Amino acid sequence: MFNDPETVQSSAKGRMMFGEFIMLTTGNLYHGGIMVNYRCNAACRHCLYACSPTRTSGYISRETMAGICATLRRGSIGSVHIGGGEPFLDFEGLVTAIAELKQAGIDLDYVETNAFWVQDVCLAREYVRTLKDLGAGALCISLDPYHTEYVPYGLPLRLAQLCDTAGLDYFLWKQQFLRPLLGLESSSVHSREELEKHLRPDYISATAGDYGLRIGGRAVNIEEEYGPSWPLAKLLHKAPPCPDLLSTGHFHVDLEGCFIPPGCTGLRLPLAEAVDGIPPGKYPLFEALYEGGVAALLDLAAGRGFVPEESYPSRCNLCFHIRAFLSGEDPSGENLSGKDPSGENLSGKDPSGKNLEEGKGFAELDENHYAESLKYYSRRDCENHHCDS
Ligand code: SF4
Ligand code: SF4
Repeated sequence: MFNDPETVQSSAKGRMMFGEFIMLTTGNLYHGGIMVNYRCNAACRHCLYACSPTRTSGYISRETMAGICATLRRGSIGSVHIGGGEPFLDFEGLVTAIAELKQAGIDLDYVETNAFWVQDVCLAREYVRTLKDLGAGALCISLDPYHTEYVPYGLPLRLAQLCDTAGLDYFLWKQQFLRPLLGLESSSVHSREELEKHLRPDYISATAGDYGLRIGGRAVNIEEEYGPSWPLAKLLHKAPPCPDLLSTGHFHVDLEGCFIPPGCTGLRLPLAEAVDGIPPGKYPLFEALYEGGVAALLDLAAGRGFVPEESYPSRCNLCFHIRAFLSGEDPSGENLSGKDPSGENLSGKDPSGKNLEEGKGFAELDENHYAESLKYYSRRDCENHHCDS
């Protein structure tokens, strides 16, 4: 659920021989998490996975968990964390997911949460006790200025107290953000304007810096508002391939059993294929990035009518917007109405006439990711979308 701070290379990833075929594979899995849902009560401006109250609902099923666990075991992983979305939107589903991990002999490092559910203290106490009894390693409790736009920071603090009482480990992510927030009312959410006034006018970019944010998902809007822009030619000059697409340093598996590379969100492949071998040619966009980086992706997209802007804040930002285009969303984020600047209708059709609505052309693109990334903060004065849950 975070904009992940860490990536560690797996040593066994890359091309491997499978009989007479050479296939891409992650090799052994190193450190990962299971995203039990994409739905969240919040729509944080830094969310790498673009979760929100408007994301498709759904929660990981027992059957999908069992299948994921079997593949994780093949990938030799001993433990994972659970995140979302907000895992506590379906506590029974969360308990089921934890039970499946236990059944498979996979340890649970921690469960991520933004603590919104602690509004009901009696229920929260019961949940914490249940998790303690289930052996859920710890809670990772979100606390930072971005979350404070959706969840009063008193709730994470109250959850920490409940964990203390129950003897369940926890950590605040991140503790360092607490002190600056203390002068604000802890029982209410706070708008961007309030936070700019109370913390500092540039708290959004400053928080991104303190986090060491990976730019992707909804965080592209932060980069676009605050980052410098670089000419396209400079970004493409000696642009490297993207072997980290097969890194398992901080990968995730979503509720549909898809592997999401660390950092490069919006791309996903079935976990079983990522571990057992990716069929050559099945995911051309993924292969283009892996082998040739963003320059190869641009070549692929140009053939489908993508016309780049003159400048972008980073290669990964350019990559995001190309993928947004290929998924059926507008590259600039300003034009989600279905019209491109020339008046062509982009809602389901690319300029070649290919129907992007049916299948989108690339199975490795999660089209909801792009729509949700661009929905909330793509303009400076857009309206906040606070959730009342
Ligand atoms: S709490 Fe915020 S960062 Fe976490 S999943 Fe929800 S929207 Fe994303
Ligand atoms: S250019 Fe794209 S695929 Fe490569 S690291 Fe950046 S986001 Fe990931």
